[in-house]
Amino acid sequence: MTLSVEIGDLTRVEADAIVNAANSMLLGGGGVDGAIHAAAGPRLLEACRRLRNTTHRDGLDVGDAVATPAFDLPASWVIHTVGPNLHRGQDDPARLASCFARSLDVAAELDVRSIAFPAVSAGAYGWPVTDVARIAVMTCRGWLAEHPEASPQDVRFVVLDERLRDVFDEALGAA
Ligand code: ADP
Repeated sequence: MTLSVEIGDLTRVEADAIVNAANSMLLGGGGVDGAIHAAAGPRLLEACRRLRNTTHRDGLDVGDAVATPAFDLPASWVIHTVGPNLHRGQDDPARLASCFARSLDVAAELDVRSIAFPAVSAGAYGWPVTDVARIAVMTCRGWLAEHPEASPQDVRFVVLDERLRDVFDEALGAA
């Protein structure tokens, strides 16, 4: 199993699943969420609306994850998770860790082998990327060690530029 970082656009990544840094409403937004909805096409919003009308009437909790098909994206699945918003005082690292662990739980249920994460909460939600990278790497590493037989074997962090890549690289290199 591998854990890696690469520079790229999540909407172009050829992984079985990509993770969306969504908001609790699940009805699209800015940042990577907007980019994913734009690239996946209107059926993604319809699928999210269906979730809101059925299993997720109150939206998705911070730290939880849920999947939809990826429609026009190269990936098969979008796993939507909601990161904590530091600007709203949501500063609990366990909540952010839960985004990564729950996304991997959902990926395992779908038998997904490769999964690509953005730097959840490191954009509009205001978390320092060094914290996001450290928590992401620690959580995914821990999850993979605890679930050696689970399907996700190729876990990638996809970031927009070299600065973010270096931060994740450092987190990956840390013991
Ligand atoms: P949040 O609201 O959880 O902070 P954002 O979408 O604002 O989510 O930002 C999360 C991270 O995703 C940021 O580091 C941002 O630079 C990055 N990002 C935005 N668009 C893309 C994309 N198309 N591919 C990969 N990463 C992206």
